Amino acid sequence: MGEKSRRLNRFLSEHPFCCLCGGVRPAVEQDHIPPRACFPKGLMPEGFEFPSCVQCNRGSRDADQVFGFYARLFEFDERNMEPGALSSLSRNLHRFQPDYMPKQLRSIREKRNALAALQRKLPFGQSVADVPIVAVPVEFDQVAITMGRKLACALGYRHLGRPLTSTHRIATGWFQEQTPDTSAFTDEIVQLTSRVVMTSRSNIKDYGERFRYRYDCNPEDQTLVYLAQWGRGLIVWGMTAPLDYWIVWDEEDPEGATWEDDTHPIFGPASDL
Ligand SMILES: [Zn+2]
Repeated sequence: MGEKSRRLNRFLSEHPFCCLCGGVRPAVEQDHIPPRACFPKGLMPEGFEFPSCVQCNRGSRDADQVFGFYARLFEFDERNMEPGALSSLSRNLHRFQPDYMPKQLRSIREKRNALAALQRKLPFGQSVADVPIVAVPVEFDQVAITMGRKLACALGYRHLGRPLTSTHRIATGWFQEQTPDTSAFTDEIVQLTSRVVMTSRSNIKDYGERFRYRYDCNPEDQTLVYLAQWGRGLIVWGMTAPLDYWIVWDEEDPEGATWEDDTHPIFGPASDL
């Protein structure tokens, strides 16, 4: 048996159950969360392999690829960028998952509206027609939700000491650091998350801020909240707690606020990736 499979066997004997589907199926593989596609080759942060069953690992593989592309597209830290990487990633995306390609804005009106919504001014001397602007397709929302849920499961497993159960529910969302009007929300979630984890690789001296997260958790209640960021760009947040922990205000029927709607994409069960 090679060193690689010995290491995997050791990992699986320490982590016998999949952490993504409620800890019910045996783990047979390692899933990288965040996905490898978010980082240049060899720059995946160390220690982010999680026990996974075949269904969970392979079932989210497409989402991993799409998410990785956008995590790198949204990067504003030039030190983390790899020349040529985006064009080869976008060629792959175009070939295998064309629905998820960013949409290029062409008309001046569309571009003007986008710049106004982003509260961005044109660099001096540049005309609206010359500014390349792409829009993220709505399909990306579902991909980001999948990733937010995977992160909740993975960080829950790490910090709560066991897989989230089928009674856990997850709320999650994403935004960009550069998006206007997100600072109040960020401040609020930062206050809830006092612990900070910076990631690295022992063989890389200047790893930079490629991926980091803040969190807080309560193993007694089995609750966790986190805020994760890739470089100077994409931010994903999530919170998870067992079903009986949530109180949800139903505006239409305040008396009847319940958790019966398990199919809601944001608040779906942890086991439903
Ligand atoms: Zn699983």
